[in-house]
Parts: sequence; structure tokens; C-alpha cells
Amino acid sequence: MKTINTIYVNGAFVKPHGTEVFDLINPADNQLIGKVTLGNETDADAAIAAAKAAFKTFSQTSKEERIAYLQQLHDAVKSREAEFIEVMVKEYGGTLHFCTMSVQNALSGFTSAIEVLKTFEFQKMVGKSKVMLQPLGVVGIITPWNASNGFICSKLAMTIASGSTAVIKPSEMSAQQTQLLLECFHEAGLPNGVFNVVNGRGDVVGATIVNHRDVAKISFTGSTAVGKFIARNAVDTMKRVTLELGGKSPNILLDDANMDDAIPMAVSAAYMNSGQACIAGTRLLVPESRLEEVKELLIETVEQVKVGNPASTDTVVGPMVSQKQYERVQKYIELGLEEGAELLIGGPGKPEGLEAGNFVKPTVFVNVNNNMRIAREEIFGPVLSVITYKTEEEAIEIANDTDYGLQAYVNSANVLRAKKVASQIVAGRVLINGLYHDPMAPFGGFKQSGIGREMGVYGLEEYVEPKTILV
Ligand code: NAD
Repeated sequence: MKTINTIYVNGAFVKPHGTEVFDLINPADNQLIGKVTLGNETDADAAIAAAKAAFKTFSQTSKEERIAYLQQLHDAVKSREAEFIEVMVKEYGGTLHFCTMSVQNALSGFTSAIEVLKTFEFQKMVGKSKVMLQPLGVVGIITPWNASNGFICSKLAMTIASGSTAVIKPSEMSAQQTQLLLECFHEAGLPNGVFNVVNGRGDVVGATIVNHRDVAKISFTGSTAVGKFIARNAVDTMKRVTLELGGKSPNILLDDANMDDAIPMAVSAAYMNSGQACIAGTRLLVPESRLEEVKELLIETVEQVKVGNPASTDTVVGPMVSQKQYERVQKYIELGLEEGAELLIGGPGKPEGLEAGNFVKPTVFVNVNNNMRIAREEIFGPVLSVITYKTEEEAIEIANDTDYGLQAYVNSANVLRAKKVASQIVAGRVLINGLYHDPMAPFGGFKQSGIGREMGVYGLEEYVEPKTILV
């Protein structure tokens, strides 16, 4: 049992004013593994004041100084890599494979920010004027539970690269992961107040940050519903916002695709991070003429997907993060059945022998119509919907017939053809014939998947504001 009863303000671990205690539960067996005392509005105010004071000097630091700070943060996290994986598996229930990758992503948040900074020009001549790209001020960073430390590291890295300071509100369900991260950040020895972290509830600490006049920008990853709340409220103080929200990503299998490669890839895309991924490829678009072959391959592949103890090296799908999330996924599986979709594999209830944790059966629905709720709403669990199409044009139309636009996948034996289709998909990223990630390329969504881009040079540009000097 680990008790966390401090937050981090102005370079020190301090006792919060808030008194609400939140239980931390291991999702693999629903046993209590810790408790965290949550901060309140007073704590958020103190953190914002510390970040505001630190901004005065931190905004004046050179590129070289910021690069050195980013390297120190990177090295401090790297030195405890194994512990990060262990605590994430236990507290979040992510698979060993996913948690290992997630820690690498957290580290690459720092290294890629360093790479961007090396060539980024904070001053340029435009016309006859000098344009200075200024840091914004205090950045409020609000993150979800599904890759908590990765999001914190990449957002903090860009904040520091820009010369701004941060107040971070992570998911309360990730408190043990946050605590380890804070111990590392503290070791890194940055000036007091450059980053501050307040554990707390979204409607208390999160809302205080969103409404505060001394916060210049919100960088948020989370649900579209909360993203809308943030956008609405941020406008009163004209805060800048970067919103990374939900998705319902299409995976188009063109009629010439090699299904032996494409189906295992499609299952990985749908069930990545146990299905709790905003970029999961949850709508599989299949040419009608190849449906029978695809169904057979899907059954064969999904039967091999190991569900269970997230700490095992061969587990592909771990538990859902909480009982609430488990119930949400169950509700959608029931809904799919009620809507008339055909269950190909999986279904309601827990897999045999895994009744103690929040485990879901990896599920595939066929005969799904793109108007069904299981095709339109983000489920955030291992549930794949197969939708058929007749022509390439219809496939593109279905792919784009969604409120979201975060990521998409295209599979074809002809890469040029796949690229042509990719150019017509409305999504922030389109992956062709595989699962890739590029930390230097922009990441973010069209439509209700968000506003703005993260990562690489486009990511840093979201943290600066041009100021023109005319002499
Ligand atoms: P969530 O939106 O419920 O919570 C995210 C964060 O916002 C948490 O820290 C929460 O406490 C805080 N929050 C809640 N209400 C708030 C309020 N009124 N004001 C300010 N902050 C508030 O999301 P979640 O359930 O933690 O995470 C799952 C969601 O995140 C999914 O919808 C998923 O698609 C999305 N997500 C998006 C991306 C992306 O990059 N696009 C990545 C991962 C997850």
C-alpha cells in the first residue's frame, strides 16, 4: 500500500490543502494498492502563482539552457526506467509490451524537443520587421490515464522548450506513476516553479486551471466531452488551447490488400493499449467481395490474442483501467447486439478465469452499419466493428463519415494507390500498410478529435506567439 499525500509546488513536495482521499485500485484484481490525497482550488492557485513567478526568469533563458534542462529531465527519467514500467503495469493495468513502449515515448518527448530546439528560430526577419516568437506564460497541462507519464513528459518538454512554465493536473487514477515521475523531475534540478503538479479532480483542480486568468494556455489530452468544456471556458480569458481528443479511426482494407498481413495488423491496431487508445483502428472497412476471407482470418487472429495478467510478456489485452470503464465497454457490446450487428467473436462478460479483474473479451462485430452507435462512438475497449463497402469511393466516404479525424489506416498491395486514398482521408495521421509513430511529425486531429498539433516543430509553434518589432 502506497500513500501519496503531497503535491509539488515551487520546487518542493508539500501537503495539499485538499483533504479528499482517492483509492488507487489494481485493475487486474481490484485490490487496493494505494491512496492519494487530492489537492483543491487553493492548491491549484498556489501552483499557478509559483509558475507565474518562475516565468519571469525562465522566459529569458537561452536555447542552450533549455536544452540542458530537457536533457537533465530525460536522464532522470531514464535512470528509473524499469520502475516506471512496473508501476504503470500495476496501477494502470497496461500490458508489459505497451508500458515498455510508453516509457520510451515519454523519453522521446524530451529528446525530440531537444532536436526541435536545436534548429528552431525564435527570431526572424519578415518583410522589414523583426518577428520574435515569445513564450506564452503559464501553461496548464491536463492529462488522462491511458498513457499518463508519456503525455506529461511530451507536453512539459514543449512547454520548457518554448520558455514557458507549467501547472500539471494528471489523472487522479495515475497518482503512483505521477509520484515516480515527480521524484525524477525533482532530481533533475530545474529552477523552482518551472513545473508544478497538483493531483486532483477534473471538476476541481482542472476547472480552476481552465478558468484562471494567469494561465495563458491549456494543453489537454482526454475525452471530447471534457475538451469541449475546456474550449468553452478558456474563451473567457482568451487562452490558447491544444486539444487532443477522441477518435473512431477507420482502417481501410483495399480490395488488393494482402489479408494475411493486413488482418493481424488490423487486430493490433484495434486492440492496442487494450483498446484504450484514441488512435485505435476500431472501424475495419472491408471490400464486400473479400468479407468471408476476412472473417476467417479475424477469428483465427483474435483467438490467439492473449487476455490476462498485464505483467506477462505475451499478454496482448490487459484489464480495463477501472470497473467504470469495464462497464462502459460492456454497455457498448450489449448495444452492438441490440443494434443488430453480428457477433463474430468475443461478446459480453469476462473471459473465464479472469473474473477478479476488469477484463473484457476481445470482440469483433460484423455486419455493422456506419450509422450504428458502435461505429460512431468511441468505446475505448477491445471492440472492433467490421463495415463492408462496394467501391473505393464508398470506402473513403464511410471512412470520413465520422465526427472524429485523428488517425486512419490504409492497406493495399499498391502503395501509390494507398497514398491516393490517404490523401482523401480527413485525419491528422494516415498510416499505410503498418503501425508507425514519428515523434518529429505533427500529431493531432481534424474535426472533433481536437484543435492544434503536438510534436516536432508544429508542436513547438503552438507554444509561442509572434511579436513584431517595427523600428
Ligand atoms: P477525461 O476527459 O475524462 O479526463 C482527462 C483529464 O481531464 C483528467 O485529468 C480529468 O481529471 C480532467 N478533467 C475532467 N473534467 C475536467 C474539467 N471539467 N475541467 C478540467 N479538467 C477536467 O478522459 P479520460 O477518461 O481520462 O481519458 C480517456 C479519453 O482520452 C478518451 O476519450 C480518449 O480518446 C482520450 N485520449 C485522447 C488522446 C489524443 O491524443 N487524442 C490520447 C489519449 C486519450
